[in-house]
Amino acid sequence: MADVIPHNSFDTILVLDFGSQYTHLITRRLREINVYSEMLPCTQKLAELTWKPKGIILSGGPYSVYEEGSPHVDPAFFELGVPVLGICYGLQEIAHRLHADNVVAGTSREYGHADLKATRFGGHVDKLFDGLEDAMTVWMSHGDKLCNLPEGFHTIGETQNSEFAAIAHKSEPVYGIQFHPEVTHTPQGGQLLKNFAVGICGADQKWSMSEFIGREIKRIRDLVGPTGQVLGAVSGGVDSTVAGKFNPTRPGDLTEGSLDIQIVLELAKLLTEAIGDRFHAVLVDNGCMRLNECELVKDVLEKQLGINLTVVDASEEFLAGLKGENDPEKKRKFIGGKFIDVFEAEARKIEASSNGKVEWFLQGTLYPDVIESISFKGPSQTIKTHHNVGGIAERLMAGHGLKLIEPLRELFKDEVRELGRQLNISEELVGRHPFPGPGLAIRVLGEVTKEKVDMARKADHIFIGMIREAGLYNEIGQAYAALDPSRAVGVMGDKRVYANIILLRAISTKDFMTATPYPFPYEFLTKVSTRIVNEVEGVCRVAYDFTSKPPGTIEME
Ligand code: GLN
Repeated sequence: MADVIPHNSFDTILVLDFGSQYTHLITRRLREINVYSEMLPCTQKLAELTWKPKGIILSGGPYSVYEEGSPHVDPAFFELGVPVLGICYGLQEIAHRLHADNVVAGTSREYGHADLKATRFGGHVDKLFDGLEDAMTVWMSHGDKLCNLPEGFHTIGETQNSEFAAIAHKSEPVYGIQFHPEVTHTPQGGQLLKNFAVGICGADQKWSMSEFIGREIKRIRDLVGPTGQVLGAVSGGVDSTVAGKFNPTRPGDLTEGSLDIQIVLELAKLLTEAIGDRFHAVLVDNGCMRLNECELVKDVLEKQLGINLTVVDASEEFLAGLKGENDPEKKRKFIGGKFIDVFEAEARKIEASSNGKVEWFLQGTLYPDVIESISFKGPSQTIKTHHNVGGIAERLMAGHGLKLIEPLRELFKDEVRELGRQLNISEELVGRHPFPGPGLAIRVLGEVTKEKVDMARKADHIFIGMIREAGLYNEIGQAYAALDPSRAVGVMGDKRVYANIILLRAISTKDFMTATPYPFPYEFLTKVSTRIVNEVEGVCRVAYDFTSKPPGTIEME
């Protein structure tokens, strides 16, 4: 079984994280060129690593190498005999460990664009710059600098401000660069990382979704054994706030790795391919789903994908519990907690009626969740080793002795989309916008009632339908209609009305961490507004939300 864990079966570049906000991008860029890569905190000891990387990258970080308490790499990594590349802090670390005076605070900080000139040796640039233009645009973000060339190294590239912007050891494969090749502002950065991983480390470019699926199916079969049963929730309902894990950079929003229906469909399909009807999917209707959502999920799972599904209609219980509750965090907590209760009760029933004991619980953890839990946040902060999206697994594991199965744990969201395509899930489902666990409950501001959810639901259906008709759906990161229960005066059919307001939100984003309002044509918004006011009873105004994130979040609550 161990042989199918990706780092045991694919050549792997290990990225040691010193806390840079871009570390995960290094991993991503490598996977984009089909080289498998994993990230571990910079405190990782070589002796505790159970596999051998093909090469090591030391990331950037917010600390200064010469300061007391700043993090340092286990020196044993330099004895492993595999190539090492230091990026920014990583470069400074390489220089500092050879001599404490090599790195100092710079007199001027350098943020943003710089022009790097690769040094020629006998007519050739260093291998790291193979195939790149001699003068390349790079992106910098540092305040410290190398003031001496470390012993045994030579300069392979310089910028106006950084005499030692790129260095290499004269006889060993150890490299350091002051700029960040992983960000898109370094246009040739991807090629540089490829030069390192493939050209210098000799890593195979074999990481692909079809390879991964074959191996993962085998791994699940081996793990679950011939009789084991697996249980999985196929609707949201739980999110990080339930576990008391509040992330101030993303309050109220999905993380890139959050569970949403699209991911869940892919997981369910993967499990069914691996173990057939020993996989039990449970869909809990919390009364706050989008129009026809439950029917759609049921139809896709049962008819199109042949998955064993139980639907539990708990909408009344959820709506009853939300009565009188105005506070967004309390609403979320209630929904998450209730979801766990309903799911647990259902799990017991399934267990009673299935042939083998349910031993496994399926969880849709994605790599960004894993990264968030292992990334190095500072010497004083404890590094979390385990993470789960909302406490449900903890309760099931403790109460029922269930073990966790997380097939997508190594994947980024875009890789999950690719996985869905390979599993023949329709493009429409694979490309769906994320949908939060608590559903429309956090898109109805304040107290949630059935009537209000209905209004938001109908307006949302019209808005999304019109976006699809206009061919804009795939350009937009997320779009929805929310209900503002304040009332405004209007005149409809010569009568005075006093009714609710619908808020439309649509954003452009790459990673959901930052976002800008989607620039719809004015006429489009006018048409949407007319239809909503005409078709949704109880609504007399429609407004478009022009707030970016930050300061706004993507969701309303
Ligand atoms: N903190 C170090 C500096 O300011 C490294 C920065 C980085 O790795 N981006 O130079």
